[in-house]
Amino acid sequence: MSRPLLMIPGPIEFTDEVMVEMSRPSPSHVDAAFIAVFSQALKDMRHVWLSGGDSQPFILAGSGTLAMDSVVNIIEPGDRALVIDTGYFSQRMAAICRHYGAEADVLSAAPGDTVSAAQVAVQLQQADYDLVTVTHVDTSTGVLTDVQGIAAAAKAAGALVVVDGVCATAAEELRQQDWGVDIYLTASQKAVGVPPGLALLVASPDAMNKWRQRSTPVASYYSDWANWLPIMEAYEEKRVSYFGTPAVNLVMALAVSLRQILAEGMDEVFARHRRLSDAVKAGIQAMDLGQVPTSHAHAAHTLTCPRYPANLDPAFLGHVRANGVILAGGLHPVIKSEYFRIGHMGAVGRRDILTALGAVESGLRLSGYAIEPGIGLAAAQAVLDE
Ligand SMILES: *Cc1c(COP(=O)(O)O)cnc(C)c1O
Repeated sequence: MSRPLLMIPGPIEFTDEVMVEMSRPSPSHVDAAFIAVFSQALKDMRHVWLSGGDSQPFILAGSGTLAMDSVVNIIEPGDRALVIDTGYFSQRMAAICRHYGAEADVLSAAPGDTVSAAQVAVQLQQADYDLVTVTHVDTSTGVLTDVQGIAAAAKAAGALVVVDGVCATAAEELRQQDWGVDIYLTASQKAVGVPPGLALLVASPDAMNKWRQRSTPVASYYSDWANWLPIMEAYEEKRVSYFGTPAVNLVMALAVSLRQILAEGMDEVFARHRRLSDAVKAGIQAMDLGQVPTSHAHAAHTLTCPRYPANLDPAFLGHVRANGVILAGGLHPVIKSEYFRIGHMGAVGRRDILTALGAVESGLRLSGYAIEPGIGLAAAQAVLDE
């Protein structure tokens, strides 16, 4: 029996080359060869993030929530944040902003909807905002938000832009420098393609300046860039340094994964995610299932959120699992029981997509939903063969 295929919105399937790095003997964090690997990973992040040579990458040991927590560096008590809310993780960002003393106004979309740049522009006229936060892809709804348009509106209003890319970075198109994004953050276990445990972010010169010019201390010890900036600079310049022990094997795996992503090329990576996503969504539609995003135009390319048909046996995901594919249930509290999630980001290809759709078809049939076998697969193949 082969192992099951993990098709959830993180952790994802990792490449063999990445897993080999995880199994190597752990080097000292001050070993010259490890320092060189860390240096390369920092430099490569700028190319994956398309963030420009003067941006500052950070690699921290922690989950994606720690990367979100890094906004503490650019928040001073009394700052005003506008949180674009497209689901579960946007709500978390609002909580973090408030935790660190910002006033957070939340511009919410109904589950499955997004917030347009025009709506954001109108809200930006209502108050003087220091910060606008956006969830690039909300993992709880599969909604993709227009970062480019919102960042342009926020910049015009003089606000910094923070984008949670945990379900998007290295899969959905984002050009940090060209689009004016000040912090673009993610976690290793999503499209970046490394086991859980690294919080990753790149900060723009404007974000670093806001931090340098602050008049109050950063309200978190571990997240404070005062502790981490000298370390990132030292590693990049190949000098020995220490603040907290880096997750050495994860950093080695990250360096390998970033090289694999850059070898494919960012434009091709973005295009592959669009193509595979279109195939999955065509397959789901051919099975006559709805989807949580209310329009294909704002549906993410990193996951698909099909709605359950009426009266489906709750054992459905178990049947899919028995067919060799692990999928995720719902996450958004308001619609949690109404949908499931198929992750398709990172090193995914045609084989994975067709295997997942085949397992979904059989799972549906075993759960009392009569569809013609192969109907979803045929629709997906038609897209893949175009
Ligand atoms: C997964 C995810 C997070 C949280 O990451 P953790 O590693 O679980 O802390 C935050 N935001 C988004 C959009 C995510 O998909």
